[in-house]
Amino acid sequence: MARLAEYLRRSSLGEEDKNYSLENQHDDIARWIGASDHTIVRTFSDPGGKSDTLNRPVFQKMMLDAKAGLFHTLLVGRWDRFSRNQDQQAVAIYQLQQYGVKVVSATQPTPEGPIGTLIRNNYAFAAELELYHIRERTTAGKKKRVHSGLLPPMSHPRYGYLFADSIKGRYVSDPETSSVVRYIFDLTVSGLTLKVIAARLDDEGIPTPTQILERRGQLPKNRVVSVEWNTSTINYILKEPAYVGKMRGWGVMHIFVEELHPITGELIEKKKQVRRGENDPELVIFPPEVCPPLVDEKTFEAVGSILKRNQENASRNLRDPQSLLLRGGFGICGYCGRNLCGFWYNRDARYVYSCTSSKHNNSCEGRRFSWVADELDDLTWRWVMHQFENPDVLRKKFEQWKADQVEGKSLEFDRIASLEGLIAKTKKRKQNYMVSAGDAKDEETRIEFTHMASEAARQIREWTEEHEQLSKVIAQAEQYKERVESIVAMGQVALEHLQAATFDDKRVTLHAFDVKVQAWRHDHKPPFDFSWGFDRLHEAWVQSRGFLDREGTQVFVQSHRSC
Ligand SMILES: [Zn+2]
Repeated sequence: MARLAEYLRRSSLGEEDKNYSLENQHDDIARWIGASDHTIVRTFSDPGGKSDTLNRPVFQKMMLDAKAGLFHTLLVGRWDRFSRNQDQQAVAIYQLQQYGVKVVSATQPTPEGPIGTLIRNNYAFAAELELYHIRERTTAGKKKRVHSGLLPPMSHPRYGYLFADSIKGRYVSDPETSSVVRYIFDLTVSGLTLKVIAARLDDEGIPTPTQILERRGQLPKNRVVSVEWNTSTINYILKEPAYVGKMRGWGVMHIFVEELHPITGELIEKKKQVRRGENDPELVIFPPEVCPPLVDEKTFEAVGSILKRNQENASRNLRDPQSLLLRGGFGICGYCGRNLCGFWYNRDARYVYSCTSSKHNNSCEGRRFSWVADELDDLTWRWVMHQFENPDVLRKKFEQWKADQVEGKSLEFDRIASLEGLIAKTKKRKQNYMVSAGDAKDEETRIEFTHMASEAARQIREWTEEHEQLSKVIAQAEQYKERVESIVAMGQVALEHLQAATFDDKRVTLHAFDVKVQAWRHDHKPPFDFSWGFDRLHEAWVQSRGFLDREGTQVFVQSHRSC
């Protein structure tokens, strides 16, 4: 009896595959097992996402289990469930072989040995080609549609509009919601803040955009219905050029930008979405016949300058250097786990921290407790410095973290070894092809072998590139480890630096050591609890360049809340 694992994958995230559902994949696998006494000991169900990369959590989990020897055969319904990229697939299969795991497709049997590999590659090649065509079809199709003057394909119309016809090529004003759009613009011009406007819309029982979509049966999957108006929705509406009859089409493009890695200082490449410039020939501004204006130019401009002024005020207030060290996720409510948020008290002219639940009227056992921001900031900082006064504690924690790091990278190391093995093997194969080409008796055979040699060369290039990338990642991790090591080693010197730290330095340090402050009411024992670790250090910093202003940062100035 063999220990089997099945690997199922959806083709796109969150969507049931129309062609080959998870259920069908499982059925095919069950049929393959048939009446034999094999048992499935593990099922890996990949929710989908990019099918040309193996960097998927469920896939990684499967690899780890394979490495741990939890199963000996991995079953897939079809080869393309594994990966649509043939080179990626080859490395994964090779790596699994190193773990003693055989990969079997329930519907596309392949023999053992080099012929099997060839057939498998053909399956993967077909899948890769198909993926290429799918992509080509969708983006090319969209672009063509927009450039022919029709609205881009959408599941539902923008708030304020209805589709004019079944082609969904243009909008007409929606009698129900267009008046709300105008109302929001008018209220803003009259000087009300977005928060007051949101409250008024709620009071008047005006349904939110998502409530409208739900009622009309147009709510996209994964969208949550908002029961109350929020300021970001209103802000979004007020900035939308469609409402003044200047809807943009094909207005966003993807570019690659190089940024300095915040820790290692190396250049990294990042994909970014940017708005096309007004003079970009690719940009389409839809005429009023396609998207009729709902507000006049003058109102739109007036609102634009009000929003700009608000934003300037907000960012000026946020830069107050000595305020809210813990904003953006360092402070956590001890009762409900939500973030603590800074609130400004006009009366006392100071900030306090309070649980964000008070904003949404959501139940929090802590009710409306608060801490004076300066006090909690000061306590936190003194606690951080105290850690540096105890180098032994720091050292111990660092060693633990280092051990975890090595453990966590074991798959990457194995993958590097697999790539090296494959590259060596393919180089030999390429050599043979070239010799055979030279010895060929006729032109046809020579061409055939030359072609195989160049295909092998292409594979070698791909794998070498991945090998370099992976080595770079690991080298960066090493370098990063050294940096942390040096901070730890600095000990007393670090302490001196920290004593003279600026506000930004402090924020960076809190990030680096993943400091968390839990707070409860004043009479709770303990009223607050500090914790820290090295765990999220690397990822969090790499993910976001704006680590000084982490997302979720929210400060409500001019608030009179008594929280
Ligand atoms: Zn709470």
